[in-house]
Amino acid sequence: MSILVENITKLYKEQKALNNVSFNVNENEIVGFLGPNGAGKSTMMKIITCYIPPTSGNVKVCGYDIHEQSIEVRKNIGYLPEHNPLYLDMYVKEFLAFVGGLYKVKNIAQRVKEMIDLTGLQVEQNKKIGALSKGYRQRVGLAQAMIHNPKVLIMDEPTTGLDPNQLEEIRSLIKKLGKEKTVMLSTHIMQEVEAVCDRVIIINKGEIVANDTTQSLKQNKVKQIIVVEFDNAIEEQLLKNIAGVELVSTIGGNKYKIVATEERDIRKDIFNLAVEKNIGVLTLNKEEQKMEDVFKELTK
Ligand code: ADP
Ligand code: MG
Repeated sequence: MSILVENITKLYKEQKALNNVSFNVNENEIVGFLGPNGAGKSTMMKIITCYIPPTSGNVKVCGYDIHEQSIEVRKNIGYLPEHNPLYLDMYVKEFLAFVGGLYKVKNIAQRVKEMIDLTGLQVEQNKKIGALSKGYRQRVGLAQAMIHNPKVLIMDEPTTGLDPNQLEEIRSLIKKLGKEKTVMLSTHIMQEVEAVCDRVIIINKGEIVANDTTQSLKQNKVKQIIVVEFDNAIEEQLLKNIAGVELVSTIGGNKYKIVATEERDIRKDIFNLAVEKNIGVLTLNKEEQKMEDVFKELTK
């Protein structure tokens, strides 16, 4: 087991950020830590990386205890914090060598070169960090997180704020790194989890609400998503009253998205309701299930 989280609770004064959270991450797994803003993702990651202590509970990383063996924990973890704090006035190489020094890396120059090659920073290696695009800064962040060759990589929203091309590049880099490392990354982007992760842990208001493979989450939590367009407005509550319907949202005009957690095809019920209310049905389609809907369903 690479990361073992047991009954972690964290209070910031009276504010409870984490409530009795437990989960684990296996060796060489890429786990997505998913949740809306304020769910407690960053707090959990700061606890795992020994940046802040929990109020109660314990975490072990590669068998080392965060309370008793925090130095060992840090040696085994690479951490890319949220907003990727970097020294903008330092040069890429200089910065990586500096971080390598903090970790007492041997053959620093050689290791810096390896990290530059691994993260695709060759062209930018002689620039100041402040002169780099967000995508390249993220690469520098990943390079510094990997410089001491940790077994576990913790990344807090590594792709937030990237443009679509940068996003694709950083995602494939994460996948590449994930082949030999245990990776835990937080995100609020659902597609990311589907694209990158083996498993997803969803947190909401400081509590774990799901912990499963993306595949089985989709199968278990959301049975069907229906998009319906009427020729007239309908009371949302009437749609909600249909048996098995969990969620109804308006998507413009008289169009509604309906999420149901039942095997039975509810399209017939929607149609019958429309007939009963003397409203015409313009379209009535079943959509492919998406992680996004699972997420909404679990964190509503
Ligand atoms: P996330 O990363 O999922 O957005 P955070 O872990 O940053 O969530 O925050 C969880 C909760 O704890 C939020 O309600 C946030 O306002 C609160 N919080 C986070 N850091 C602090 C802090 N240093 N002091 C007080 N409250 C905090
Ligand atoms: Mg955060």
